[in-house]
Amino acid sequence: MNRLLGVRDCGKPGPLLILLGAVHGNETTGVFAVENVFRSLEEWDIQNKGKIVGILGNTRAYEKNIRYLDYDLNRCWTDSFVSERKGNIQGSVLQAEDLELLELLGEIEKHSTGDYSTRILVDLHATSSDNGNFVVIPQDEADHPVVKSLRLPIIVDLEKYLEGTLLEYMHHRNFVSFAFEGGLIGSERALNLHTSGIWEIIYASGMVERRKDHEFSKYDQILESFIHKLPHKVSVLYRHKIHSGDQFIMNPGYTNFSKVKKGEILAKDGKGEILAKESGMIFMPLYQELGDDGFFIVEEIEGRL
Ligand SMILES: [Zn+2]
Repeated sequence: MNRLLGVRDCGKPGPLLILLGAVHGNETTGVFAVENVFRSLEEWDIQNKGKIVGILGNTRAYEKNIRYLDYDLNRCWTDSFVSERKGNIQGSVLQAEDLELLELLGEIEKHSTGDYSTRILVDLHATSSDNGNFVVIPQDEADHPVVKSLRLPIIVDLEKYLEGTLLEYMHHRNFVSFAFEGGLIGSERALNLHTSGIWEIIYASGMVERRKDHEFSKYDQILESFIHKLPHKVSVLYRHKIHSGDQFIMNPGYTNFSKVKKGEILAKDGKGEILAKESGMIFMPLYQELGDDGFFIVEEIEGRL
């Protein structure tokens, strides 16, 4: 499996844009979207400024179409964990994601040397529940023009609840770095939103000038059908963490940003019913087997204009 999905550098100064697909192996739309974008760049011989790099996150899990093999490749990016892996822990057997982490980091670092006006890393994900269209970014960069160009709900403080995300690790390494969730895993809409969204990012970062005869981005059309129903900027109130052996089952019918009331029965596990501890909106309800987070409850902190 080739980790490198594409590189495009036409020798003009500008930003570095790294596009990551399938850090969770079953979230394939990001990979297809990156391939679509590279195909158009080449077919139309577009002379972009800066460098665009497409990288596949978890190659071993991607081949098996599962989220991960030994551990979640998007919950392990703490300084201590990464430096232990780099140190190649004497005598220990490396797990699949240990190798993925080292190879992925190597690929990112290889393409990051050089002089760039900005460094942007977009981590493309999809969700197991519907309406999963949003951006996750640390608060201090939530108003970056590239992020604003996507006009999706922005989750500003997820890092307080999730340790070891790749976006947080790269945020501390001088990247404007965010997760771009395209929607339901494997859906046509997620693929279209990711493909068009990457073009919006390329335009907003000034790497390519938008032209009328290039119809790569159908972003406005796609967004129009659902964006009015979604919040603008949200903050996390609560996380339901799953422990091994919990037998967590989310009640059916929840999608991202569905309204919930305090006391509502949301899920069950081996210990009984799980009630909403706060009123707000449900976020990332888990409808697949693998995952440590059952659901989050979020609240809107800034409305859509
Ligand atoms: Zn994911």
